[in-house]
Amino acid sequence: MKILVINCGSSSLKFQLIDSETEAVICKGLCERIGIDGSRIVYTPEGKDKITIEEPMPDHNRAIEMVIEALTNKENGVVSLDEIGAVGHRIVHGGEKFTKSVVIDEEVIKAIEDVSDLAPLHNPANLIGIRACQKVMPGVPMVAVFDTAFHQTMPQEAYLYGLPYSYYEKYGIRRYGFHGTSHSYVSKRAAEILGKDAKDLNIIVCHLGNGASISAVKGGECIDTSMGLTPLEGLIMGTRTGDIDPSVVEFIMKKENSSVADVTNLLNKKSGVFGLSNDLSSDFRDLEDAYVEGHEGAKRAVDAFTYRVAKYIGSYAVALGSVDAICFTAGVGENSGFTRGLICERLSFLGATVDAEANKVRGEEKVISGPDSKVKLMVVPTNEELAIARDTYALTR
Ligand code: AMP
Repeated sequence: MKILVINCGSSSLKFQLIDSETEAVICKGLCERIGIDGSRIVYTPEGKDKITIEEPMPDHNRAIEMVIEALTNKENGVVSLDEIGAVGHRIVHGGEKFTKSVVIDEEVIKAIEDVSDLAPLHNPANLIGIRACQKVMPGVPMVAVFDTAFHQTMPQEAYLYGLPYSYYEKYGIRRYGFHGTSHSYVSKRAAEILGKDAKDLNIIVCHLGNGASISAVKGGECIDTSMGLTPLEGLIMGTRTGDIDPSVVEFIMKKENSSVADVTNLLNKKSGVFGLSNDLSSDFRDLEDAYVEGHEGAKRAVDAFTYRVAKYIGSYAVALGSVDAICFTAGVGENSGFTRGLICERLSFLGATVDAEANKVRGEEKVISGPDSKVKLMVVPTNEELAIARDTYALTR
């Protein structure tokens, strides 16, 4: 069966068509600037060159239509419409309601709407994607895969904030965590690579991309993760602050005579390694090059980033009791031996050592710890689309 995986944002839509049997990506692509001038679809059918079609896409319905046209057209299409057996949707926030992936029906759509105030930028866009697929592919079963679901096993002591408990009861204010599909996939894959049952392992997964989060996985279940009510909490990220004293918000508002919206924008879009480097870049390739050339801001930003990651690893070692493996994934985690090396230098308390040659790896599964290391250090490329396709197939076959 062919599974269409959709990750729908407010003005963009990423897609992959995956064969459930071979798990090959048959086609993948992106619709950009939906509802904005200059919209286009860019896609790459398996084994062929990238194709770009510039055409107005006034809404997501048209975007989905164009995806289907791209996948099924006579000239360079890869399937017929009736071969697409199911659609898997990435949904950012499932609140406490969704602890695993589910087949989408009207009740599920209503429940996703109900938690939309927890992810006001993302969930409504995800829902638009669902509605558009229903319209263009009526009768094709669809599955919702939630970024928050894997973290729902966190115990209360890990997910509660030190706020009056009534705020949790009334408004659901708690830590939810994100990137769950990635943390789940990578921790399971690490167990497979090590030839062990996930139930017997304590694993720390470092998802280090432009957005970054870390999780503690005990016996296959998440017991803590760094992102919170929103993806702003935790590690220092590309442009997000991660953990800060909440009083900073009021302090900046008074100093700069700015609004909550202004400061929220500052914390999400202008901070992180970008802000720390004095706006040099949020891209680790630029920062690492500048670091090596002695750029003070780049060093400051990358050092703060690696320090924060190592600090979380330390706290998760406490939460887990012992650590079998630490996995690096996402753009920086998979590709940057430099940043991985700086993080691992700080992990001698765990008896971790790095094999410098192995740590040169980019984008491939590899154990990068030395033979004497007390904990396995691993690069495990994430594959959220494949994880979504697997869940979708399992629930609709
Ligand atoms: P993601 O959000 O997972 O797509 O990751 C994006 C981040 O990965 C950006 O900060 C990139 O700079 C970073 N990245 C990608 N390739 C490399 C690389 N070869 N070295 C360092 N950072 C990289």
